[in-house]
Amino acid sequence: NAFSMYTYSKSAELLERARQSLAGGVSSEFRKYNHPHAIFYSHAAGSRVYDVDGNEYIDFTLSQGPMLVGHNHPHVVKRVEEYARNGQLYAGQHLLEIELAEKLQKMIPSAELMRFCLDGSEAVHTALRVARAKTGKQKFLRFEGHYHGWLDNVAWGLSTPTLDALGPRASPNLHAWSAGLPAQVENNFILLPWNDLALLEKTVKARCDEIAAIITEPVMCNNGCIMPKDGYLQGMRDLCNRYNIALIFDEVITGFRTSLGGAQSYFKITPDLSIFAKALASGYPISAIVGKKEWMHLIAEGKVIHAGTMNSSNSTVAAAIGTLEVLENENVVERVYLLGNLLMAGLKQIGKKYRSNLLVQGLGPMLHTGFTDLATVNDFREVLQYDKAKLGKFIAGLHDRGIRVIGRGLWYISAAHTKEDIQKALDIADEVFKLL
Ligand code: PMP
Repeated sequence: NAFSMYTYSKSAELLERARQSLAGGVSSEFRKYNHPHAIFYSHAAGSRVYDVDGNEYIDFTLSQGPMLVGHNHPHVVKRVEEYARNGQLYAGQHLLEIELAEKLQKMIPSAELMRFCLDGSEAVHTALRVARAKTGKQKFLRFEGHYHGWLDNVAWGLSTPTLDALGPRASPNLHAWSAGLPAQVENNFILLPWNDLALLEKTVKARCDEIAAIITEPVMCNNGCIMPKDGYLQGMRDLCNRYNIALIFDEVITGFRTSLGGAQSYFKITPDLSIFAKALASGYPISAIVGKKEWMHLIAEGKVIHAGTMNSSNSTVAAAIGTLEVLENENVVERVYLLGNLLMAGLKQIGKKYRSNLLVQGLGPMLHTGFTDLATVNDFREVLQYDKAKLGKFIAGLHDRGIRVIGRGLWYISAAHTKEDIQKALDIADEVFKLL
């Protein structure tokens, strides 16, 4: 096979063994879809990750986003080691979590009050509960192709059927992502295509009595890497103000990387509630639901219940503090834009050189590569028109030569990447294009 350089026999053996004890051999569904199958890793440092077959990768997955400051950053590790020496978990409060909350208050425009949870999914769940409690309404409005975790009420609108199966734009068909979802849960939300303000306005005007919240990824990163059209987020903000609806930004991906204060700082649109996770703590399980007092006071007063045995454990809070210190002190955001823009420009050039229908879209800190004849891709319906088979070959070709990219075509940049890493990735992309 002309494509194959790296081999994966040790991973394959471990996967076989893992299947006897771990369902499907993995601990998260998405890990099945590595190339050529689930891979087992041995260690990681900086911009590199190494697998059990001895293959070295320049890592552009950042472990699905968390490793914004790079793998195994010494300052983060030091913070964790020092603070966890005191103990791990108290079923009570500790000083560092106030310091973390105070730091986030300063960074994030909407963060007047917050609570810490373990992951993005839980924090999304909390935000929707707050929205229903405050507005007295039941439904939330969400968008095709946006990912908000894997829990019951958001496990919809994601699996990728054919374009035809999506149905009419104004009333899309609902596709469950999982078996076993409770009956009637699809009555809890309204689904719409993203980036269509006229359709959003029409729907909200007609159904404002039912809608407690609009939840959106401010940049659609879970299908493509799609910027909101000019005025779209502002339009959303205006509708929410007018009709007593919570505007929820799911900043699990955009948080800390589009700017220190997330996409809400970048776009200067302040949501009522927002979710931060992934890059907050470099791989330690901590997330935050943050929001304006007029919404979060319901949690403060115990009217909306939010709880969790493991919340704000010492190591996770110390990891978050360490990460934020690196973000602040090492010009991380500026660096990832610079490198991401270099990578985007280089990839576009290679696409041209080979007269390929490669489309590169994104912001810099995260970017997407796909193959399509469309000039731009603006929503999930257009994402479905990407040539998946060709992308699969491209991603596999890169992987087999040491460039690790998320299988759906998303690349993340970290502060540990160097210009040389970017050049190496471009050289290898060029080599793969020759073979495509
Ligand atoms: N929201 C978004 C935008 C995400 O990308 C993800 C994870 N990919 C989640 C929520 C869920 O977060 P977690 O996997 O930490 O539960």
